Amino acid sequence: SGDLGGKTALVTAAGQGIGRASALAYKAAGASVIATDINAEALETLASEGIATHVLDVRSDQSVRDVIAAVGPVDILFNCAGVVHAGTVLDVKDEELDFAWDLNVRSMVRTARAVLPGMLARGGGAIVNMASVASSVKGVPNRFAYTVTKAAVIGLTKSIAADYVAQGIRCNAICPGTVESPSLQERMRAGGDYDAARAAFIARQPMGRLGTPEEIAALAVHLAGATYTTGQAYVIDGGWTG
Ligand code: NAD
Repeated sequence: SGDLGGKTALVTAAGQGIGRASALAYKAAGASVIATDINAEALETLASEGIATHVLDVRSDQSVRDVIAAVGPVDILFNCAGVVHAGTVLDVKDEELDFAWDLNVRSMVRTARAVLPGMLARGGGAIVNMASVASSVKGVPNRFAYTVTKAAVIGLTKSIAADYVAQGIRCNAICPGTVESPSLQERMRAGGDYDAARAAFIARQPMGRLGTPEEIAALAVHLAGATYTTGQAYVIDGGWTG
């Protein structure tokens, strides 16, 4: 039942935030879902929702290979894992830039390499990659490592889409504005003035509110089933860049 009935969907960073909401939304759309995260504890509540869970560190080739081998071919891959670093080009430490590159971009190379052979053998598949409006869409102050790596996610998305369009593989990216999530809560607390930080995030969203994980999850479900769409970066940002 549902638009994604009979499909298998693997979600990375499904322990909380947008990834968690997306695992639940894929399930509600009829898919059989494999929710993965580096944090085993965060996955526990999904197991009780009838969702298969696996600990998967997207920064590890071995971990990605092992989990894909264990679960078998997937029809839908949602690469949701990503990290935000603050700072300008002058502030950012090389280690932070390398870490952001590895977690935000190389992770998607790892998972794509792991799932594509199975998708090609089965004649189709959909990959959805988490980018951001902070990317090639828009320069956002004080987000150098993040903006650089999320722009690369859009390039990676278009490249995979172009290479495999004739073999039934689609690859699209999601570019949210600011979305309520546990890590956003941490970023708002980090500066010491939570209310001011929250007000500043809301002020740049013309709709006057932050997005919800469920709103982004609905787009992740749509793109998994959008059979005439590939190579696109979908902005979902409360009117920020509109
Ligand atoms: P979040 O940041 O609160 O949670 C991230 C999850 O990733 C956690 O469950 C964590 O355990 C997991 N994780 C961290 N390292 C991992 C690893 N090596 N392997 C596997 N999992 C790992 O969630 P969020 O804020 O919803 O963000 C999810 C994605 O959406 C990220 O790619 C983020 O950049 C992107 N995004 C978020 C916003 C926002 O405002 N929240 C906006 C645009 C884009």
